[in-house]
Amino acid sequence: MSSKNRLTEAAYQCLPGGPLDIDRAFMISFVLPIRSGKAWEVRKGDICRIIAVGRTDRLAILNIWSLHNPRERFWASRTRQLQRAHVSVYDRLWSTLPYLRPLVTISGDSLKDYGVDGSGIDAEGGRVHDLLGTRCDPYVNRMLTGEDNDYHCHSNLTRAVAPYGLTEFDVHDVLNTCPAKKGDYFEFIAETDILCALSTCPGGDLSKAMWGEGATEATTADPTLECCRPLGVEVYRLPDGWLTERGWKEAMPNGRAYKGGHALKEVLFASTGKS
Ligand SMILES: [Zn+2]
Repeated sequence: MSSKNRLTEAAYQCLPGGPLDIDRAFMISFVLPIRSGKAWEVRKGDICRIIAVGRTDRLAILNIWSLHNPRERFWASRTRQLQRAHVSVYDRLWSTLPYLRPLVTISGDSLKDYGVDGSGIDAEGGRVHDLLGTRCDPYVNRMLTGEDNDYHCHSNLTRAVAPYGLTEFDVHDVLNTCPAKKGDYFEFIAETDILCALSTCPGGDLSKAMWGEGATEATTADPTLECCRPLGVEVYRLPDGWLTERGWKEAMPNGRAYKGGHALKEVLFASTGKS
């Protein structure tokens, strides 16, 4: 360090390799506590990683929207048809009509070989990262138990997106992942600017019943609390130009190609029958 500049330089110098020399590609990092929700933005081309930071976890209850238009959001059922019911690396998560574009592409999955023999299937036929279920919610809880609980995934996501002007009507069907060990991760690249919201399920890893037979003690002893774990989220930015040099482009809505008008202009079909 040059002494002649000492009086005008910062007291704590950010020198290469020093403790203040942060990785500037690291955009967002937070830990989501148990039974909570949080939303965050991921810009196109950025990499987002969701990490199990506890011993075991129901890794993620994830919602995704186009950042600039929340009417465009993740469409779990079409993704099930275009990709598969249990998604992993290179699968894409598609958006609703009339947009129909990949919001993200899965770029990393430490559980892709989950199972007893690396087949992706465990001894009970279970797999991970599924599009089969939906979020738990206080309405079905009330219907089944007669009690109110405000920390179901639907409510966690509703609180999470409120700062973005969204409501529970914007919360939608989800990507579930379960189970995971500490350090396991699920990673994706944003194909356009997106808003993500994540809930750590109050049911934890679902190893204990929330309703019905076996859940009798749940209302008093809260047995699912012990299987709830926090999650970590990290967002990285790749070096400028790295993606475009490899041919990557922001995904555009495929729906724009449709030039029909849903037959709102009446067309009379010829009848072959005789009256
Ligand atoms: Zn839940």
